[in-house]
Amino acid sequence: MMHLRSSVGDSLCSCGACNSPPALSRRQFLCTTAATAVAASTVVGTASAQQPGGATAPGRAILIKGGCVLTLDRAVGDFEQADVLVEGGKISAVRPNISAPNAEVIDASRMIVAPGFVDTHRHMWQGILRNVLPDGSLDDYIATVQKTFGAKYVPDDVYAGDYFSALGAIDSGVTCILDWSHIHNTPEHTDAAVKALGDSGVRAVFAYGNAQTVDGRWWEAKGSKFPSDIARLRKQYFSSDDQLVTLYLAAPSGSPEQILPTFKAARDVGARITIHVGVGERGRSGLLEKLNAEKALGSDTTYIHCCTLNDTEWKLIKDTGGTISIAGYVETLMGHGNPPTQKAIDMGIRPSLSVDVETSVPNDFFAQMRTIFSLQKNEVWARRLAGDKNPPKFLTVREVLEFATIEGARANGLERKIGTLTPGKDADIILLRTDRLNVMPMNNAVGAVVTSMGPQNVDTVLIAGKVMKRNGQLVGVDFERLTRLGNEARDRLYANANVKNARI
Ligand SMILES: [Zn+2]
Repeated sequence: MMHLRSSVGDSLCSCGACNSPPALSRRQFLCTTAATAVAASTVVGTASAQQPGGATAPGRAILIKGGCVLTLDRAVGDFEQADVLVEGGKISAVRPNISAPNAEVIDASRMIVAPGFVDTHRHMWQGILRNVLPDGSLDDYIATVQKTFGAKYVPDDVYAGDYFSALGAIDSGVTCILDWSHIHNTPEHTDAAVKALGDSGVRAVFAYGNAQTVDGRWWEAKGSKFPSDIARLRKQYFSSDDQLVTLYLAAPSGSPEQILPTFKAARDVGARITIHVGVGERGRSGLLEKLNAEKALGSDTTYIHCCTLNDTEWKLIKDTGGTISIAGYVETLMGHGNPPTQKAIDMGIRPSLSVDVETSVPNDFFAQMRTIFSLQKNEVWARRLAGDKNPPKFLTVREVLEFATIEGARANGLERKIGTLTPGKDADIILLRTDRLNVMPMNNAVGAVVTSMGPQNVDTVLIAGKVMKRNGQLVGVDFERLTRLGNEARDRLYANANVKNARI
């Protein structure tokens, strides 16, 4: 007997012999249909043809037509075939057979339409250092990426790194990304990062962090104004939270005495906080218990990794309403500890996902989803093999897709704006091709996204209703100029850091 999850609920399999939901019809199997169609606005008329060349007129309504729509909103449900209408940068309707006068039409008949992926932790300044450290441990990373290269970054390098990372994210279907930015050797470095995020068009959370130095003593960096400069940033760039790039503080790892003033600086300007905890042996210090003794933990904080936290610390995160970010791939590569997906679930915390470092991790979310999916299942199988009579449930592909979207939105403080295809939310939407050899013929929409697809399936990307990628190509990006920018920044950085670039 085959057991499949239904589209709109978590109901478990009625057979009682397993943790799986009930079997569905073939139609539901492909792409389950909503019980109730939702339309926030009624539009009548005839849709116009799309413009040649893949461009869309700014400000014009967009009708995404005839796709298999995974809204991931349980109240709205999913549709084997439906339309998504985008007006004024927002999703205004999701239902079959929408007619929209004057709307630009995007044919989605061979696509899965889904919310864009949401990354909750990536050090985007390292976008020009991709794959520099494929065999490195965490100690190697700190020595090479942070102390050797990071200490020598000039503002233009920060700009190039952030810009490459942002465009790469959009290209692979990540529409919102938290830039865990700890490269603020001077305020000019900060300005460069903020400018790059804005220029890229990605939806971003700029998490302002410390400087890099050759000895790792960021608090002694002469040009750095961390954390007090966050007051300027709030005023100069982030006076509103209703914009495409919003503000967080990236708190450093260290002693409570070093961390507490940064938490205060964030809260003084109403910025949320993100911090690495529970990383390897260093993560066993009971840091969250110490911070809790100072009443510093709150629902405004995202805890990254959490691999080696103790049970008391986990309970503190749960009790104070914090969110978590698991970077499963890097955690297995660099010795952070076992990615704590099952632990989070046991505690009633739904995790978000993150890439962390492109210096040794692929920049797409398909790899992230598959990593934690296979690791969690392996953990359950191992317990079964060891004789555990009451092992945890297996994670499902739908849960993993939720971690990659709506749970990311929650950790980035944006769950009211993005993360599901809900009418009224901003239109951060991806169209994934099903007519590619890695997924055709398609048999299960959520399964196709989580188990089979890759960046090559990302055909079209919208952010706040703006088309950023179309027909498999980024829109409005001059690749020759981009290549020059990347090569020049990389070569300058290697020269400044006195590192020979062997390339092989
Ligand atoms: Zn990190």
